[in-house]
Amino acid sequence: MKIEVLTLFPEIYDTLNVSVIGRALKNGVFEVGVHNIRDYSSDKHKRCDDYPYGGGAGMVMTPQPLHDAITAVDPDRKFLRIYLSPKGKKLEQSVVTELASAENIMLINGSYEGIDQRIIDLDVDMELSIGDYVLTSGDLASLVVINAVARYIPDVLGSEASTDEESFSQGYLEYPHYTRPPEFMGLSVPPVLLSGNHAEIAKWRKNQSEIITKEKRPDLL
Ligand code: SAM
Repeated sequence: MKIEVLTLFPEIYDTLNVSVIGRALKNGVFEVGVHNIRDYSSDKHKRCDDYPYGGGAGMVMTPQPLHDAITAVDPDRKFLRIYLSPKGKKLEQSVVTELASAENIMLINGSYEGIDQRIIDLDVDMELSIGDYVLTSGDLASLVVINAVARYIPDVLGSEASTDEESFSQGYLEYPHYTRPPEFMGLSVPPVLLSGNHAEIAKWRKNQSEIITKEKRPDLL
């Protein structure tokens, strides 16, 4: 998979170079290209924002640098072009797995009050939100999308099973985990997990998943 990111803040994406995602990028399991929208501005001061028509607070990202950046990076319209926006479809597990099956994704990041509507009308396939709150730019949302999607790209995680039994994968929240020692600060590991009885362990975990989901996220049931 190839992900192309258009942003005014390319340095934010340096954080991709750590941990599991950093290792996958280094090994070429998937690719992320980061492009500075400012490089495409035809303004002599490389400006990318202007006052909003109709007045009001803040600035709006102008269409020219964005349109030129989008068409330079994806001249043949091969990418699923996503604009990160609080007005977009909410990012959920089903959206993450859907995106993970795409070959090419472009993440377009707004700043200021957002981008000129004509870019959305002309160049964007999908608007995506990471939640009902407003960020200063789309970049943290893009990092969330990249991280969540990358986990479903084969070979990014150590074991394929890691995504199969997680929260949301089967419609439930995940069961609790325990590791050594068997007792910590007076709290013991549930005996069934030490029993070696795999059928009983599976039954306990399924039951715990159902209890936790009912308690914390009944809306999922
Ligand atoms: N004026 C816009 C509004 O009220 O809908 C908010 C603009 S926000 C300050 C600047 C940029 O951050 C947006 O263009 C978008 O790219 C990004 N952004 C903010 N909140 C977001 C969210 N919840 N999900 C995805 N992107 C978001």
